[in-house]
Amino acid sequence: MTTARLAAQGIRTLGDLLMFLPRGYDDQRRVYALSALAAVPEGTTVVVRGTVRRVHVFPHRLMDVHLEQDGASLRARWFRPGRGMSKAYPKGGEVALAGAVRWGTDGGAELVHPTNVTSQLANSNGGLGIRPRYPKVQGVPGRTVEKLVAASLDRCIVDVVDPLPAVLRHRLKLAELSKALTSVHRPASSLDEAALNTLASGQSEAHRRLAFDEAFVVQLALRRARNRTRTDSARPCRAVAAAVLSELRAQLPFVLTGAQGLAIAAIFADLSRPFPMQRLLQGDVGSGKTAVALAASALVARSGCQVLLMAPTEILAEQHAAVFTALGAGLGLRVGLLTGSLKPAQRQAVLARAATGDLDVLIGTHALLDGRVILPALALAIVDEQQRFGVRQRARLGRTADLGSPATANAGILPHLLVLSATPIPRTLALTLYGDLDLTTLDELPPGRTPVVTTVCVGDDQQARAYAAVAQAVAAGRQAFIVCPTVGTGAGPGSSISVNTHAARLSRSGILKSARIGVVHGQLDRGAQERVLGAFRAGSLDILVATTVIEVGLDVPRASVMVVEDAERFGLAQLHQLRGRVGRGTETGSCWLCTCSAAPEAGDRLRVLAATTDGFRIAEEDLRLRGPGDIHGAEQSGAPRFRFGDFAGHVALLDAARVEAERLLSVDPELSSPIHQALRRAVDARWAERPVFAEEAG
Ligand code: ADP
Ligand code: MG
Repeated sequence: MTTARLAAQGIRTLGDLLMFLPRGYDDQRRVYALSALAAVPEGTTVVVRGTVRRVHVFPHRLMDVHLEQDGASLRARWFRPGRGMSKAYPKGGEVALAGAVRWGTDGGAELVHPTNVTSQLANSNGGLGIRPRYPKVQGVPGRTVEKLVAASLDRCIVDVVDPLPAVLRHRLKLAELSKALTSVHRPASSLDEAALNTLASGQSEAHRRLAFDEAFVVQLALRRARNRTRTDSARPCRAVAAAVLSELRAQLPFVLTGAQGLAIAAIFADLSRPFPMQRLLQGDVGSGKTAVALAASALVARSGCQVLLMAPTEILAEQHAAVFTALGAGLGLRVGLLTGSLKPAQRQAVLARAATGDLDVLIGTHALLDGRVILPALALAIVDEQQRFGVRQRARLGRTADLGSPATANAGILPHLLVLSATPIPRTLALTLYGDLDLTTLDELPPGRTPVVTTVCVGDDQQARAYAAVAQAVAAGRQAFIVCPTVGTGAGPGSSISVNTHAARLSRSGILKSARIGVVHGQLDRGAQERVLGAFRAGSLDILVATTVIEVGLDVPRASVMVVEDAERFGLAQLHQLRGRVGRGTETGSCWLCTCSAAPEAGDRLRVLAATTDGFRIAEEDLRLRGPGDIHGAEQSGAPRFRFGDFAGHVALLDAARVEAERLLSVDPELSSPIHQALRRAVDARWAERPVFAEEAG
C-alpha cells in the first residue's frame, strides 16, 4: 500500500527516497522550560516537557491536553483527534511534545497539533535533532516517510556512487554527493541558525550540488542527442546564398535589420550541410522572424527542394501564406496553404501539387501532420510560434522523413528544422531548455517602431480611463482587445473576471453598450474561434473580449488599444506577448493593465512592463521573480521540468552545467569511458523517463 502510494510520487527505489528532499526543517534541538516560553517569538518550533493535568475531549472535534511544569502551563490542542488518541495522555503522566508555539486567545502558550516525542526524547541525551519535514505523500504519514528516508540513508549512503568526475567536482567546488545527501536529510546538529535557514530555503551548498547534477544530466542528454543528429542525413541546399539574398533584398519592402542578416547567414550555412539543422530562432514580438523564414524558404526552393511551414492557428497560417505569396512571387516561390477548413476538393488539389513537386512551400496548421501529406523533396520544416505546440507535434514535424515519400527513397533523410519562438527567454535558460537546438536570437527590432504605451491601472477610477480609451478608439473606427483571465462564470469576491460575464456586462450598459463585441476563448471549438477572429480581422467587430488565445502572432493593424483585466494573474512575459497585438498599424498602441489587487508587489511587477518594451529584460525579470518553472511557454513546449525545481537562485549553475556538459561530450561523446558509467546511467535513465525527449531529438 505504502509502496504504491510512494510510487505514485515517483519514489520506487532507495535511490529515489534519497532524492526525495525535505521542504523544511523543525529545529527540535532545544528543550524549553514551560516558564521560558513567554520569551519565545510566536511560531518558533520548541520541544517541551510537562505533566498532564487535564484532558478535554470533544469527540470528532477537538482534544485539549493541559501540561504543567514548575507552575507554568501550556495547552496542546488537536482538531479532529483520532480515536483513542487521549490514551497517550494519562492524567499525571510525563509527556514531551514538539511543535510551533503560538498564543491562545486567553494569552496562554499553546501548541496546535504538536508531535508526541516522549519516547524519542527519553532515548536521546538531552534534546532531539533538526528534523526534516518532507513533502506530503498522499496516504502515507509524514512520520513513515521520515523513517523510510532515514533507513535508506543508513543502508545505502555508503554505496552511493558519485557520478560526477572528481576533477569537475573540484573545479566547480561542489560537495560530494553522499555528503550533500546526508547534510540535506540529516543536518548536523551543530548548525547555527543562519546555516539552517540557508538549508531550509534550498540555497545550501548541498542543494547547489544536487541542482547541478540535475541540470548537468539534462544537458548531457540533450546535447548528446543533438550531437547524434549530426550523424543523420539531410538534403544539403546548395543554391548560391549571395544570389538568393540579393534577390530577396530586392523583393522586400524594407531593409533587413543586422540581426536578421546574421540569422539568415547562420541558417544558410546550416542548410548547406548534409546533416539536419536543429535551430531555434527566437526574437521578440515584431522582430521580423517571418522574413528570416522566407529567406530560408527561398534558398531551399532555389536548391530544388521543398519547405513545410507549420503555424499554430489557421489565422496565422493564412497570414503567413499571404506574406509568402506576396513577397515570394518575385522570388518564384510557389506557395500552397493547407488548413482544416479546406473543402475536400481544394485539399486534394493542394496535396497533389505538393506531391508532384509543384509547390515549393506548403503552409498550414497541424492538419499538415496528416499522414497523407507528401513532399517528395522536403528539405526544411519550419515551426512558427513553437511555444504553442506540444513537444510531440514538434517532434513529429522534426521527423517528417515519413512525409517525404510513400516509398523508401527518403528513408533516413531528415528535414532541416527551424523553430521560431517569440517567447523571449534569457539566453542561459534557452540553452538549457532547448539544449538540443542551436540558438539564434533576433535582438534588434526594425527601426521606427513606436512602443506600445503601457499604463498600470489600480482601482475603479483608473480603470475607467482604460475604458474611455477603448470607447475613443472605437469611435475613431479603430478596434480593441479586452483580455480576461478566465472563461466561465466565476462568481463571488476574489474570483477572477471571466470573458463571458465581462462581455455581457459591457454590452448591457456603460460607454461600450453600442459597440460590436465578440467573444473568443479556448473552449469554443476551432471553427467558432476562427470565425470570431476572422470577423474581428475583417473589421465587423469593434471589440474582442478574449482569453490568452489571442496571444500569439495575430496581426490586426486596426487594433490599437488593449485592456487586460486582473493583469496581476498573468506572467510578465505573457503580458508582453499580449500587448504585442496592438500598435501594429500607424496608430501608437496603448495597453492598460488593470488590477484590483491591493498587494503593492502586484502593481510594482506590472510597472516593469510600463517601464520597458524589451522582451528579454522582461523575461529576465520574470525569471528573477518567478523562477524558470513559470517561464511562459516553457511548460507547453515540453521543456524539461527540474525536480529541484526552482533555479531562480542557481542561474549561474545552469550555465556551468551547459559548459561542462559540452566539455565532457567533446572528449567522451557517448560517455563510454569507465569513469563516466554512473553518469551515463543517469543520463540514459533521464532519457528513458522522458520519452518525449527522445522523440523530440528525432
Ligand atoms: P515576428 O517576429 O513577431 O513574427 P513579423 O515577422 O510578423 O514579426 O514582423 C512584424 C512586422 O515587421 C511585419 O509587418 C514585417 O513586415 C515587419 N518587418 C520585418 N522585418 C522588418 C525590417 N527589417 N524593417 C521593417 N519592417 C520589418
Ligand atoms: Mg511571427
